[in-house]
Amino acid sequence: MHVRVLGSSSSGNCTVLWDNGRAVLIDIGFSLRYISRHLRPIGLSFREVAGVVITHAHGDHVHPNTLSSILALGIPVFAPHPILDVLCEYFREARKARGTPRLRPIQSGHADVGPFSVDAWAVPHDAAGGCYAYTVSGECLTGVAKATVATDLGYVPEGLTAHCADSHVLVVESNHDPVMLESSRRPLWLKERIRTIGHLSNEKAGHFVRDVLTASRFLPDAVVLAHVSKECNTNARAVESMQRSLHEHGAGSVRVVETFRNAPNETVSFCL
Ligand SMILES: [Zn+2]
Ligand SMILES: [Zn+2]
Repeated sequence: MHVRVLGSSSSGNCTVLWDNGRAVLIDIGFSLRYISRHLRPIGLSFREVAGVVITHAHGDHVHPNTLSSILALGIPVFAPHPILDVLCEYFREARKARGTPRLRPIQSGHADVGPFSVDAWAVPHDAAGGCYAYTVSGECLTGVAKATVATDLGYVPEGLTAHCADSHVLVVESNHDPVMLESSRRPLWLKERIRTIGHLSNEKAGHFVRDVLTASRFLPDAVVLAHVSKECNTNARAVESMQRSLHEHGAGSVRVVETFRNAPNETVSFCL
């Protein structure tokens, strides 16, 4: 199985997971053209996309035109009920698709998306309809290949660590450096929002990953750092902070992979 973050920041998010010519997209926060352009080099097109899974209804995760195009292409869109309700409230094309197989509620936290098993866990974030972290699992020769995608969470809720245990790849947000956030020109209320119900800092991301590793039977192949703030963080700081956390945990051998705002990162393959 493979995973690649096609782009990640407060301006757009889209992650593709694929195996044997079948793919699932987590979030569609870019234009259809952007996503299509970056699927091509990895041998994929929208024909191979079995479904789109939405974490929450913020604009950097759901691009309105892309949602309309995805629905028009007949690619099913998956999310828990409250998020689908919000999408229907916001977008006419979603309203038209309500009750059809193109809009698929994730029931009891689970959905089969093509050959992939997708499991949702609610996370705290200030989005109408709520916000979810997902694990995506697929069959592989050695058993089950599992990846976690957890972005946009103010703090790690109870149960999330166990939900993400035994992942071969962890895509987690490492949003801000607390000192850079504090000294930024952002208004106080926004700083407070980011810290409490917005996003994980580099340090909190490190604690989260360490707790997942403690709950896991094996070390992951890679930790991928997503949703890095342009103003209040740098990729170098995020990577260094995560490497330090992993090292302190005796897991310094785990690869830390950076992501980019407007370009895909390297492909991470696992359980081949
Ligand atoms: Zn976001
Ligand atoms: Zn958000």
